[in-house]
Parts: sequence; C-alpha cells; structure tokens
Amino acid sequence: MEQIEKIELHVCSRCGNELDDEERDSPSLNKLSEPICDDCYRECYREYCPICEDYYDKPEKPTDTYFIVSKSSEQDAGIKAGVYHVLEYPVFSAAVGGLGSTYLWKENFELLRECDVDSMLSKIYGKGTAKLDGTEFVCECCARRFSRTTNFIQIRKRWVESALYKNIRERGIIQEGK
Ligand SMILES: [Zn+2]
Ligand SMILES: [Zn+2]
Repeated sequence: MEQIEKIELHVCSRCGNELDDEERDSPSLNKLSEPICDDCYRECYREYCPICEDYYDKPEKPTDTYFIVSKSSEQDAGIKAGVYHVLEYPVFSAAVGGLGSTYLWKENFELLRECDVDSMLSKIYGKGTAKLDGTEFVCECCARRFSRTTNFIQIRKRWVESALYKNIRERGIIQEGK
C-alpha cells in the first residue's frame, strides 16, 4: 500500500508523465487533490491572455469571461471593436466540430467600451506591437485596463503637471523612462 502511494506521487495523474523535481516538491493539484504536472495544470485550469502574455485562471463562471474584438476584425465579427464582458454562455454557435460560420449570441454579452485596442497597444508599447488576431479572450485585468474611459497616457500627462508627481516618482509608484 505504502509503495503504491509513493509511486503515484511521482507521476502526473492526468498524463502519466513523471513529475520533475520542482513539481514533486510542490505539485499542482487537480480538483480531486491528485498531483498533476505543470503542463496539465495549465491545460486544465489556466488560460493564455494574448495581451499581457501571461496565464490566468480559467473562468469558472460566464461573468468572469472577457473578450476583445480588434479593429481589423470588426467586419468579420459583425460587432464593434472593443472590450466585451460575457453575461451568459454560450457566446458563439457553430456547426458540430466548429467548422463553418459562427453565430454570436448578442444578448449574452455586453460591450464595456468601444475602442481600438491594437492602436492603444501601439501607443503604449510602440508601433508594430499589434497583438490581437480577431476575437480573443483576455484576462480580467487586461479587459479592465482597456475598458477604462481614461487611458493612462492622459492620466500620466495630468500627473506630470501636478505637485503630486515628484512624490509619486520618489516612492516608486511611477517609473520614468518607460
Ligand atoms: Zn500531466
Ligand atoms: Zn491579460
């Protein structure tokens, strides 16, 4: 019995691959509290955000889901470019297997802000940094960041002119030269 438990701890309970040293020390756990490898954990519980290029927890409910429609795909999508918040699933309807036309359930999501996220990204990070390819699901952080009605270039300008700015800089809240 003891032997079996020991063996089980060294392999991923999903793909069966052996866990590496780091994964063994602090293994990620699935919903049944069994150890799984980092790759499987990412596949099962994490989602990739194309804007911040990081992984975030897979939304557990529809209202934790956000997506962005890029300006270039506005026509294809049939909805305005901008940041959307999902209220209910489904968001799309497609034929079995996902091939062919996709239909939108427009009553199941809301537009948080009509905007061109690609051009906002270029303003912040420089030209040619467009990251969006059509309609993309993004993390809540990025969705909130781009659905603010004031973008941070305007905020920054206001700060520079205020007495607050020196204080903010000295405390490290704002970093210059970026
Ligand atoms: Zn695995
Ligand atoms: Zn993000």
